Amino acid sequence: MGNITICGPAGLDPISARLLRGAGTHGPVVLMYHSISPGGGTPDWLWSVSYQRFVAQLDMLQAAGWTTACVSDLANCESIAARTAVITFDDGYADNYPAFEALLKRGMRATWFIPSEVVGQLSGWTKPARQMLSTEQLREIAGAGMEIGAHGRTHCRLTQVGDDCLQNEVADSKTDLARVVGAEIRSFAYPYGDQDDRVVQAVRNAGFRLACGTDAGWAFSGSDPFRIRRLSVLSHDGLSVFARKLALGSNNVSWKRVGCYAYERARARFLSRSGLP
Ligand SMILES: [Zn+2]
Repeated sequence: MGNITICGPAGLDPISARLLRGAGTHGPVVLMYHSISPGGGTPDWLWSVSYQRFVAQLDMLQAAGWTTACVSDLANCESIAARTAVITFDDGYADNYPAFEALLKRGMRATWFIPSEVVGQLSGWTKPARQMLSTEQLREIAGAGMEIGAHGRTHCRLTQVGDDCLQNEVADSKTDLARVVGAEIRSFAYPYGDQDDRVVQAVRNAGFRLACGTDAGWAFSGSDPFRIRRLSVLSHDGLSVFARKLALGSNNVSWKRVGCYAYERARARFLSRSGLP
């Protein structure tokens, strides 16, 4: 299928709009953002969403009847309403501050995963280095009812460090950030999504309740609270792509994938009606 004329609500193509109307029945969806760049358009960095696109995504979520929650709310997943989106920001870039204000203005919530050792400094893992949110900003974000989670201390790959370093990266990020925001830190996100059984055990032992990876899917499709799945929101994602990610629970929302999804749903409906196994 080629380009589709934009004519649906909120600038969505009709198929994506229809998919969005039926979305939200598979449990919560966790969205992963990194940088939010000022202005509009498509930033060069894949992991940067323009502020205008971000705000349009928030408005579309609200218009479609979605509510937002923080990652730690997922510990009581039975009480999570249908059409719940959990907005997460990894790394804590300073350009996230206007995104925080946009969320606050709309009564929406989000979780920020912060590498504790670089608060207020420059990121050492991006080229060019990027300014990080300050201690004062993190306190303000936490004080406004948003969640601060941990993302290690230095944003290193946790599967590649020794046991002592792993312990420092995980447990110390929890205590360091608790000191910054004056509240318990309950959630963790693995830098680069890099984890194995040893890393997961270290996160569990440190007293975190939940942890997010970068594998795509509905939040609990892996049914492990220490391997919560997330969907990536990327620089070039238009509203229709964003809507289809919510509906399909996948980062792959090509029209071919949409066709497979529609076939699978129709087949499941047919089998449940016909009583076939
Ligand atoms: Zn990160």
